[in-house]
Amino acid sequence: MSERPNTNQPRIDSQAFIARAREVLGAEAVLADPASCANYERDSLGRSGRALAVLLPASTAQTVEAMKLCAAFNVAVVPQAGNTGLVGASTPDESARQVVLSVRRMDLMEGVDVLNRSVSVGAGVRMSRLQPHLIEAGMWFPFEIAADPCVGGMIASNTGGSHLTRYGDVRASVLGIEAVLADGTVVDSLKALRKDNTGFDCKQLFIGSGGTLGVITRAVLAVHPKPMTRVSALLVPRSHDALPALLQRLEARYGELLTTFEGMSGEAIRHAYNTFAHLHRLFGDAQIPHYAVLVELASSCEFYAESLAADVHASLARLVDESLAATALTADPDEYWKLRDAIPLSLMKARQVLSLDVSFPRSRLVSFRAAVGEFLRTQHPQAVLADFGHFADGGDHLTVVIPDHCATRYPPLMMLRLRGQLYDLVAAHGGSYSAEHGIGPLNESVYRRHSPPVTQRLHGAIKQMLDPTRRLGRGRFA
Ligand SMILES: Cc1cc2nc3c(=O)[nH]c(=O)nc-3n(C[C@H](O)[C@H](O)[C@H](O)COP(=O)(O)OP(=O)(O)OC[C@H]3O[C@@H](n4cnc5c(N)ncnc54)[C@H](O)[C@@H]3O)c2cc1C
Repeated sequence: MSERPNTNQPRIDSQAFIARAREVLGAEAVLADPASCANYERDSLGRSGRALAVLLPASTAQTVEAMKLCAAFNVAVVPQAGNTGLVGASTPDESARQVVLSVRRMDLMEGVDVLNRSVSVGAGVRMSRLQPHLIEAGMWFPFEIAADPCVGGMIASNTGGSHLTRYGDVRASVLGIEAVLADGTVVDSLKALRKDNTGFDCKQLFIGSGGTLGVITRAVLAVHPKPMTRVSALLVPRSHDALPALLQRLEARYGELLTTFEGMSGEAIRHAYNTFAHLHRLFGDAQIPHYAVLVELASSCEFYAESLAADVHASLARLVDESLAATALTADPDEYWKLRDAIPLSLMKARQVLSLDVSFPRSRLVSFRAAVGEFLRTQHPQAVLADFGHFADGGDHLTVVIPDHCATRYPPLMMLRLRGQLYDLVAAHGGSYSAEHGIGPLNESVYRRHSPPVTQRLHGAIKQMLDPTRRLGRGRFA
């Protein structure tokens, strides 16, 4: 879906801007030729825009200079970190009037404070560097997703992920933030405190703000002892209706040791297998099941180290004996995670696909899936429901694939209509239209339709206060 550039943005003297940026930030911090900018202009969904330039400040002080410069030239700024976001908010539009400000060079990591269970890091630190740094100190950041985002982007989009049921979203793991506002003001809230009840908590404004209120430059993260025992299994529920009972049984026995309960529809599994030949065929010669759940139990306590795996295996066998589950696989834990991670990557390659990131009270997830299945069967019989998601926290990556042989029956307008119908169904079931990916150009119209007017007004008032000239971020939601 191509999107019109925002032509309300003022024309600026781009050559003068770039020359001044090089003077202020140094030539190595300013990219302006198309080849160097290309990586920052294209997002993980393959959508491209054109940037006026890419700025790569290496410190908070340089970010302040960059923001003041953009203010002086009245240039719009799109903050970017790992560029793995899924709502089109991390890359510029096609106007070539927006600057991408990438925080990737701000990637310093301080030593881990093991006693306080915290670490202070730059916004450009990628997960693939943070985890080894923490693990060396016996700690862990409980976000493992099928992409490699940076801390700043994760905070700005308030990442969820597969362990949310135990550890919460990124918001629950942020102790402190440093951010730079559109006019260059530094908001220093870099505290390493778990209790700090001193009025409005300003750092919360930046969490989930999608780059619209300021550029996050540093953060203090709450971290956790690295689990010493992890037990993963793949469960096939006897029927879809058995899912809540399976979840409740595992919660009743293991409480907070249950870190993962990830649902995968049979069609999502089939899609991953068809896309990636190297994936281990976990179900052998048997049919791909209608639904499977990746379960993980983990503990960092010595107390459980020896007994957890045997107990979990026995519990899963009981669930099969009692006919709540048809199968429980436990032999290849790494392969279960590879399958789970392959699903979003394979669905992103589908030619015609709608991917909605929705959530519900988990008590309504089963009835919603039944309703959406019925809706597709009766009104769009060619469409294939290939959803997957974080069942334990009510999340569903509601993915609908149009098979290639039906593509001509689904021109762009038809896809838009189907998308609107699905969002209306989500709203009718009391769900959220954006569970964990945030708001951006891809779902901005849904925000206008489904977020209450008072909420939109409050967002607008906060935006007006922090970015009165409205130059920050792609999301126009605020
Ligand atoms: C295969 C795949 C699987 C994924 N799985 C999950 C998942 O399970 N759960 C989940 O929640 N997400 C998932 N995502 C989405 C994505 O990884 C997350 O949204 C991630 O947090 C984005 O971080 P990033 O560093 O890539 O940010 P970017 O994509 O660079 O930016 C995301 C948003 O944050 C803003 N931003 C970036 N940096 C800053 C900054 N320093 N200051 C202010 N604003 C900033 C941008 O303007 C943009 O609006 C997945 C993505 C992919 C491709």
